Order: sequence, then C-alpha cells, then structure tokens
Amino acid sequence: MTATSAKGQGIEYADTASEAYRAALRVIESVEPRIAEATRKELDDQRHSLKLIASENYASPAVLLTMGTWFSDKYAEGTVGHRFYAACQNVDTVEALAAEHARELFGASYAYAQPHSGIDANLVAYWAILATRVETPGLAELGSKHINDLSEADWETLRAKLGNQKLMGMSLDTGGHLTHGFRPNISGKMFHQRQYGTNPETGFIDYDAVAAAVREFKPLILVAGYSAYPRRVNFAKMREIADEVGATFMVDMAHFAGLVAGKVFTGDEDPVPHAHVVTTTTHKSLRGPRGGLVLATEEYAPAVDKGCPMVLGGPLSHVMAAKAVALAEARQPEFRTYAQAVADNAQSLADGFVKRDASLVTGGTDNHLVLLDVTSFGLTGRQAESALLDSGIVTNRNAIPADPNGAWYTSGIRFGTPALTTRGFGADEFDRVAELVVEVLSNTQPAAGPNGPSKAKYTLADGTADRVRSAAAELLEANPLYPGLTL
Ligand code: PLP
Repeated sequence: MTATSAKGQGIEYADTASEAYRAALRVIESVEPRIAEATRKELDDQRHSLKLIASENYASPAVLLTMGTWFSDKYAEGTVGHRFYAACQNVDTVEALAAEHARELFGASYAYAQPHSGIDANLVAYWAILATRVETPGLAELGSKHINDLSEADWETLRAKLGNQKLMGMSLDTGGHLTHGFRPNISGKMFHQRQYGTNPETGFIDYDAVAAAVREFKPLILVAGYSAYPRRVNFAKMREIADEVGATFMVDMAHFAGLVAGKVFTGDEDPVPHAHVVTTTTHKSLRGPRGGLVLATEEYAPAVDKGCPMVLGGPLSHVMAAKAVALAEARQPEFRTYAQAVADNAQSLADGFVKRDASLVTGGTDNHLVLLDVTSFGLTGRQAESALLDSGIVTNRNAIPADPNGAWYTSGIRFGTPALTTRGFGADEFDRVAELVVEVLSNTQPAAGPNGPSKAKYTLADGTADRVRSAAAELLEANPLYPGLTL
C-alpha cells in the first residue's frame, strides 16, 4: 500500500518513482523528444507556481504511474462480468476493485467507476434517472418489455416523454455547474430547466426559497452541488424538498468529494445517505486520476450500470485502475488528516483576505474554496487572473452572483486549497498567500485598450511581479512538490 500524507506526496518511495519516471521519459524521448521535454517542463512549472485552482490537485506517483499501462489498449464495453468484448478478465478485476473501494469509502450501496469525466458521470446519472423514472414505466404502460419491440409510433411517444422532463439545479452565477441545466450545455437542451440561486443579501442558499421554487416548478430531478459556492450544503434538507414533489435527488460532489471521503462533511452534509444518485470527479479534492464516478441507490443502480454503451464509449481501463489506487489511498487514515487540513487552510485563506479588507462572496468559507469579489480592487476577474498569473499565482476567474461583468470577464477569482495542502502548506502559509494576492491586486490598475475602456487590459506596478514571485518561491521551496523525485 502506498502511503500518502498531508505533508507532500510519495515521500517513502521517491527513489523508486524517480527511476520509473526517468526510464519512462527515456522511452518517450526515443520516439518524440518534444513530448518528453514538455512533460519535464510541466513538472517544473507545477513545482514553481502557487496552484490555487480549486478543481486541481497533485495525484500521487502511484496513481499517475498506474495510468501508463497496457490496460489502455483494451476494449471492455459493458460492465463487470457482462462485456461486449472478449478477454476482459483483468479489466473486470480492475473495475470491480475501483467500485468496491468507492462503495467502502463513501458508504454507498452501488458504485460505477467508468465515467471518463465529471460531465460524463452527470450524463450517465441523468439518463439512468430518465430510464428508471420515464422509460421503464413508459414501456410498462405500452405493454412492452424492451424498447426494440416498440412500434415506431410508440417509440416516438416515449422519446417525446424522455425529452420533455424537468430539471432544477443551482444557477451558474451563484456557484452551480454548467451541467446542472445551463443552456449551452447538453443538460440545458435535454431538459426543461429552471435554476435556484442564493440569497442576494447573504450569498447563502436559502432553503425556503429553494423549496418554494421546487414546489412551483415540480422538477423530475433536483440537483445539488457546485463549482464555486464557498459554503456547505444541508443535503438532508434538500432531500426533504425533493421528496415533497417526488423529485429524484441528485448530488454532484465533484468539487468536495475529498471532504466527504475524509469525513469533514458528515451527517446532513454528507450527500451519500441523502441522495438517490451522487456523481463526482476523481481528480479534484479526491486527488485521483482525471475521471468520474457515480454512486447510486439500489433503485437506480441497474440503469447506471448500463452507462456504457448508453452514454459512454469504451471504458478507460487504465484510468479505472488509477481510480482504484487513488480510492485505496483515500481510505487510509492520512487522507482524513489531509481533508481536514484542506478545510482548515481554506478558513485561514479566507481570514487572511478578510483581515486585509478584501471582499468575499458570503463573507468567508466553510469548505475548500474561497470566492474573492475583485470589484473592490476596481478590477474584472480577467484582469485579476492575469495579474496574479504574471506574479506566479495560478487561479481562475469566476462569476460572482449577479455578476455585472458576465461569465467571460467575471468579477471574481476562485481560490482552492486542495493542491497546496497536498504540498504541505498549512494555515500560516495560506495567510501569506492571501497577503501576496492582496499585494498583487492592490498594485494592479485597469487599463484602456486601443478602443477605450477594456475589461481585459491592466497594468501591474513595476517590481510587484518579481517581488511576489520570489516570496512565492520561498513558500514553494519549503513545501516541495513530490519531494525527492528527480528526473
Ligand atoms: N461537476 C462539477 C460540479 C464540476 O465542478 C465539474 C468540473 O469543473 C464537472 C462536473 C465536470 O468535470 P469534468 O471536467 O471532469 O468533466
């Protein structure tokens, strides 16, 4: 078993991992040296920047190395023990192990390890809910067992029903994800959708307002979960709201799965006992490979299990193997220490901003992310993101509620603590990060473009970028990424 700790990754086996990567890079170099070079450079860049993107992390060498194997070469459409391809016995082992670790880690009765990403996990979930709630009863009504047995006219009737269902999720500007019914995404085209927001005064979810909106709209699916909401959600309350109108309650925990796995979110804040279906990514706070997972109750499990070929192409067996390794890591006691540190560090980062008079959406955080309103610095999100990047601080711009600058330029910067916590940053380091961010933004001015005012152009006062970069370098050197790993 590979041990990982809150203080960095791969400490125990750095020499072995170094040998493995050196050998792998020599092999790659013999075919396409530019890819070997870019791979080396990516590690160097990641080592030398303050990565505060809330959806990113650093997976362990064990997770990363697991992805580079011959499992990549295998087709395995179908599910464990029931494949459309021959010779899948080892893929079965891998997929069954990934699902077992996921069930044990999250206390779920069923887990599906195939989704290639978070978006795919949500598509599997939506279609599994539609299959369970609309297709199966529709078939029964038509007196048929299988859709292939339906006449063309009956199939058209059923298809129209499948395409005419309602979904309600959190709006994008208050922190929801575009897969929760936003029109440019397929979820907004598949469903008649409406969204709930947050209280305009406080920025918090107002459960009474959500209940009223749900009562009025009566969605088939109520989605909770977020990408940019800096607070916890009471999933027990959301389930009650869904139950009132007979909605299926789905939670997308892509962002905060690590806090669920690490038992920071328990009771009403743990979505698994309350939701019918839970989706997640595996690469954010969960610290695994890029990919998705679906957890479901017995009622929805059979339909989720048909995710491939219903929605997904052939499973990425090499990534499922890496999911199994990452989930095994997350079941270790050290992961709880890590998850608690992620939340504590977010608190410290938020406090660091507040004490320096920076304005935060909801005034703070109680999860892994912080949303800074940069209008108080006279900037757009785009200007702030670029100025921070010039200074070696990697973040992403993000809309704030009722954002005056829209979803492209935005008025916010989202910060997350999962990645730097993996490097070993603690509360003091995050306070210093807040100080550096405020230093950059206080020294950034909006600038005009050739045609007048610009939401993208800015000037950074001379010396700021260099000063902040060298302060960041001190923090990064004291908390190295993959300590002991040399290429
Ligand atoms: N769901 C939420 C809440 C997310 O934040 C994201 C990613 O940003 C996704 C789904 C999509 O994940 P992926 O990029 O793996 O498709």
